[in-house]
Amino acid sequence: MIKNAQIHFNDAGTPVADSFDDVYFSNDDGLAESHYVFYTQNHIDERLQNHGKDRFVIAETGFGTGLNFLNAWYHFNQRSKDACVNQLHFVSFEKYPIHIDDLVKALQAWPTLAPLAEKLCQQYPMALEGCHRLEFDDGQVTLDLWFGDIHDNLPQLSFEQAGFVDAWFLDGFAPSKNPDMWQQSLFDAMANMSRDNATLATFTAAGFVRRGLQDAGFDCKKVKGFGRKREMVIGTLNRANKNYNTPAYYSTTPRKLESIAIIGGGIASSCLLYHLSKRNLGATLFCQDDALAKGASHNRQGALYPNLQADHTPSSELYAHSFLYAKRLYQHIASTGYHFAHDWCGVLLQSVNEAKRAQHQNLAEKATWPHDLIHAVDAKQASVIANTTLPYGGLYIPEAGWLNPAEVTQAVFDAAHALKAVSTYFNTDIQKLEKTESGWLLHGEDNTFGPFSDVFVCGGEHSDRFEQTKHIPLHGVRGQVSHIDAGEESQKLNTVLCHKGYFTPAMNGQHCMGATFEKNSKSREVKAEDNAVNRAQLERFYKDTDLAASLGEITSAKAAVRSCFNDHLPMLGQVQHNDEFCSAFANLRKGKHYGFGKPALPYQGIHIVTGFGARGLCSAPLATEHLVATLLGEARPLSERVHQAIHPARLLVRDLIRSKI
Ligand code: SAM
Repeated sequence: MIKNAQIHFNDAGTPVADSFDDVYFSNDDGLAESHYVFYTQNHIDERLQNHGKDRFVIAETGFGTGLNFLNAWYHFNQRSKDACVNQLHFVSFEKYPIHIDDLVKALQAWPTLAPLAEKLCQQYPMALEGCHRLEFDDGQVTLDLWFGDIHDNLPQLSFEQAGFVDAWFLDGFAPSKNPDMWQQSLFDAMANMSRDNATLATFTAAGFVRRGLQDAGFDCKKVKGFGRKREMVIGTLNRANKNYNTPAYYSTTPRKLESIAIIGGGIASSCLLYHLSKRNLGATLFCQDDALAKGASHNRQGALYPNLQADHTPSSELYAHSFLYAKRLYQHIASTGYHFAHDWCGVLLQSVNEAKRAQHQNLAEKATWPHDLIHAVDAKQASVIANTTLPYGGLYIPEAGWLNPAEVTQAVFDAAHALKAVSTYFNTDIQKLEKTESGWLLHGEDNTFGPFSDVFVCGGEHSDRFEQTKHIPLHGVRGQVSHIDAGEESQKLNTVLCHKGYFTPAMNGQHCMGATFEKNSKSREVKAEDNAVNRAQLERFYKDTDLAASLGEITSAKAAVRSCFNDHLPMLGQVQHNDEFCSAFANLRKGKHYGFGKPALPYQGIHIVTGFGARGLCSAPLATEHLVATLLGEARPLSERVHQAIHPARLLVRDLIRSKI
């Protein structure tokens, strides 16, 4: 677990890091220094004019108070009207994130930046290691905050050949105060991540830094430093090198996403549309139902919380960051006037049996996760949180809650539509995808649509119905959620309870409880026996409680089919052709990670987006953002190991390595 920075403010009011004994910015006009050293010496203003791309990417070592970020954002907003760049993407690394209270105080020094600082502070995340993607101004400005030591995070970044960074702000405390950071491995990684003509600027003129950057491939020179400082260093990488973190078998062919079809109308489709719209990309949505969210996204109340294990596994990392990202997205959408019923009332994971108790205790003892994200509570504390007497303690996730999945699916869709018009075809069952010279045609029962350059198959349990996707080993797990009348005591419940299933606070006089798990069924029929199972389970776990005793009748229920993979992770990315893939990467069978062929891509342009199980509300927002960023060759928000964990080739790669296929 990472720690927040320990800081104090010196007599000049400048924040000082105790562990480095150094100031975050200069005592005399830190803002002017930041602007001169990093912004001006990277020639950002000129480059926003003639970059030749829509998005400009700055990467920084040491986020600190965010002054460099805010200054870059401020000047990006002042760019001239004919600038070709419309999106600013700032990627920053921070070993010791400043606590939010210190951040607010530190940023008070800059009145001109106050409106931007306020937006930053509203979204500033808890000290969880890994990448936090924050978005501002409807996605025009993106901030990736990689919390943790930069040397731990650099190998985690997911990127392919040719890099993605346009300018480096090589900050960090002085090399003499922070020698661990200023290493050749940092300079090499900077070069690996850089695009053609990437630049760098750093306040230090230390000879070993300049030589190290030169060894990494940057042409460097000394220029006049800020104010009384004699010198600083700037550099350019003329040509991107050929290094990468993503191996060829997990690579993605870049797409322009010129004309986009989305099949399916659940939360994944809405999120995907939102990420496309904020990039000014339009799309057409096809849905077999008469409205959005009639499939697995249709419960009345869905719990939103991360599925965390005791260890920092790829799955836990996905869910932890997805949860924080999803909450930021939903909060943003709610704050811009789109309605969906929800309550950030927390979620209590209850230790209802010995296995759960041991699991919860293990997670609490390992302390992998920040206290603010999840922490242990005893039965007394749980009862106070829940506002009713509970027999168990467990784990509490205070930032979590519930929301109405269908309404939030609609709200995200509406927000996307407001940014860029979306065309919709409801009651349209796409049955076949056909490749033509000009793109993919979508054949419905009576009509043919297209051609489209790209088709995203977000059809939940139906995603494997096409010739091109039928090999995807998806299975459906039917689940039924029952609606039960609240009683006097149960009305008091203040938080979501998770036992083996879940039980929500009452909405309009009813609780949601469930859900059942029935493998290999694709039926959406409601069954009376499933209601009985849900009730019996709740009564078994809460048998002597006033809460259970006060409950009334089950009056209705909803059933849906969750789409799942055996490894319980979603799947997002370009659809592989199994035979082509296996022959190109046959060397994996021999344990060789080289000598690969180039697989033919007969399904190029078809992307699978499915397998969210019962966790789509949590994982769909960030996973779909990662997919869009990956396809467009942008900086990716998920780490390389999570990129691999959700990649469509993962099952093939695993089987090839084990020589099973
Ligand atoms: N750019 C910052 C700003 O605009 O406020 C000021 C940066 S401050 C001078 C240096 C920052 O680098 C500190 O926040 C420190 O915690 C961070 N840092 C130092 N060593 C690091 C490392 N190995 N990995 C990531 N961050 C590091």
